[in-house]
Amino acid sequence: MTDINTLESWDRENFFHPSTHLAGFARGDVPNRVVTGGKGVYIDDMNGNTLLDAFAGLYCVNVGYGQQKVIDAISKQANELAYYHAYVGHGTEASITLSKMILDRAPAHMSKVYFGLSGSDANETNVKLVWYYNNVLGRPQKKKIISRWRGYHGSGLVTGSLTGLHLFHKQFDLPLSQVVHTEAPYYYGRQDDNMSEEEFSAHCANELEKLIEVEGADTIAAFIGEPALGTGGLIPPPKGYWEAIQKVLNKYDILLIADEVVTGFGRLGTMFGSEHYGLKPDIITIAKGLTSAYAPLSGSIVADKVWKVLEQGTDEFGAFGHGWTYSAHPIGAAAGVANLELVDELNLVANAGETGAYFKQALIEAVGSHKNVGQVRGEGLLVAVEFVEDKASRKRFDNVGALGGKLAAALLARGVISRAMPQGDILGFAPPLCISKEECDKVVSALHSAIEEIL
Ligand code: PLP
Repeated sequence: MTDINTLESWDRENFFHPSTHLAGFARGDVPNRVVTGGKGVYIDDMNGNTLLDAFAGLYCVNVGYGQQKVIDAISKQANELAYYHAYVGHGTEASITLSKMILDRAPAHMSKVYFGLSGSDANETNVKLVWYYNNVLGRPQKKKIISRWRGYHGSGLVTGSLTGLHLFHKQFDLPLSQVVHTEAPYYYGRQDDNMSEEEFSAHCANELEKLIEVEGADTIAAFIGEPALGTGGLIPPPKGYWEAIQKVLNKYDILLIADEVVTGFGRLGTMFGSEHYGLKPDIITIAKGLTSAYAPLSGSIVADKVWKVLEQGTDEFGAFGHGWTYSAHPIGAAAGVANLELVDELNLVANAGETGAYFKQALIEAVGSHKNVGQVRGEGLLVAVEFVEDKASRKRFDNVGALGGKLAAALLARGVISRAMPQGDILGFAPPLCISKEECDKVVSALHSAIEEIL
């Protein structure tokens, strides 16, 4: 095996890492970590560390690391047939079975699933579906997509535009003109101190309606949102939010895309976040938890209402001109089938709800009263702790983000991986759904000790 020092120098010389400070990495300011193995909620690195991964990779390894059932399914599929395409009616037992398993779990009005590789390409597909839909319906001007500030939907051209975080726009000439952003459902970060949660939800819906009126309802095709915000700060919606938003969307005949890349398949303690918050989406984006990241696979689940128009379009215009070489890749599909079976066998959706509630309560008890802990929030196993300089006024620290980074490093030194979220001093926790209460306790005590050291 190549030794660690050689790997480190190859890494710094050759590897263009995503979402990384490139110059800092080349200089050696950003540490590298060569990950060698994983079991349950733990990963191992080449320096001999075993770390409790309280962010499940990028909140995707939902069944935990090293699950033999999924590994065997991948290996069997690779032996039998590593690849065949899905164009013009081709499929494999795995891809066909997985499409049925997804629809069996999705909300009742959903009709078909299109497979991609990543959350980003699935959302790219969704925008094309929506454009095609409106062209078939004879409204070619109805094309803009509304997204929220703090939303995360990928980092391609359209999806990076949908993402409402400046880091993903700056210097890339994004967002594209077809995308407009509206207010984030971030009650804790609201400007007006006197608003109740319900009033804030009504305010968000009003802002949305104002934007639609300014842009013109006949130019707006769809609204995209994560049922609970992920990368933008792990923020569950305020009370009444989705009800108020959907009322506006229905009024102006605007489709709803629920981006369930993080929330799909159990993270919030329900199979889908849409179920949890009463969304009735026209399209659902899935990825991460679909295969627990054992192989790349994503999907766009399309409601009956949209599907009928797509079918009609192909009768009018010919075959649907959209596809990836790796759509429904057999190895990804085999991983998906075994993964979803395992989610059921291990009762992980219920575990996410129950253990998530335990985890959040334990965090509140251990650190909630600290003078700089502004809020402990979350739903299921999507939990965040937000830090502020002044609790009463919710005033943030100057140099926002620095404290979050320091705390994440202090947790790492205690053997726990968390994630400093990109906008704010927010520490995020989204562990594998198989995490136990004892393992949650380890995370809580590491955070308690990190806060004592730093604040
Ligand atoms: N949508 C959401 C809600 C996400 O959290 C992510 C990734 O974190 C994406 C889309 C993009 O997925 P990918 O990184 O697989 O392209």
